[in-house]
Amino acid sequence: MPTSIGHALAGAAAAWSVDLVPGRRAWRTAPPAASWYRRAGNGLTLVCVALAAVPDADLLFRLHRTFSHGIGGVIVVGVLAGAIAALTNRPAVRIASMCAAAYGTHLLLDWLAVDLMPPYGIQAFWPFSDAWYISRWIVFRQIERARLFSAATLRLNALAVAQELVVLAPMVIVIWLVRVKALARLAAQMSRSDHPAE
Ligand SMILES: [Zn+2]
Repeated sequence: MPTSIGHALAGAAAAWSVDLVPGRRAWRTAPPAASWYRRAGNGLTLVCVALAAVPDADLLFRLHRTFSHGIGGVIVVGVLAGAIAALTNRPAVRIASMCAAAYGTHLLLDWLAVDLMPPYGIQAFWPFSDAWYISRWIVFRQIERARLFSAATLRLNALAVAQELVVLAPMVIVIWLVRVKALARLAAQMSRSDHPAE
């Protein structure tokens, strides 16, 4: 299973990818001089980062990789996020898709990871199926949660993080750069339509 670092990166990538979908997204723009936090999409991007990591909170309840790692979790997150967005007069479909996509990346990354503890993989289609799924393509390493500060565990987990960065960081950087360009173009269009005579 990937680390929370890998999951967090995927959550940010999901939020920024949904920003590339045309539609009502002017509120996601920020001037180039704005803080990194605003340019990265404020608290909503942070929420997506958290949503991408939160399914592993099931470790606390000894129900790891079961219902929180299924499509049912993605649907619940999407519906809740859409309802909160609608109640606060924000674009419900966009916010629902963003949050559901961020949560969904957790399932995708876990599916693509080594799992040495049977039953292998995740209950990806819970509650529609109790079956366990794991990909044949292994992209991410197994991390170790026992004896966290032993040299062997630190080395194993450092390698896992390094592999996650090698796979995910280039994707995240490309999505970020494309998003910066797309939102800057959108901001320029908006300011032209605000000042048509200029
Ligand atoms: Zn997980």
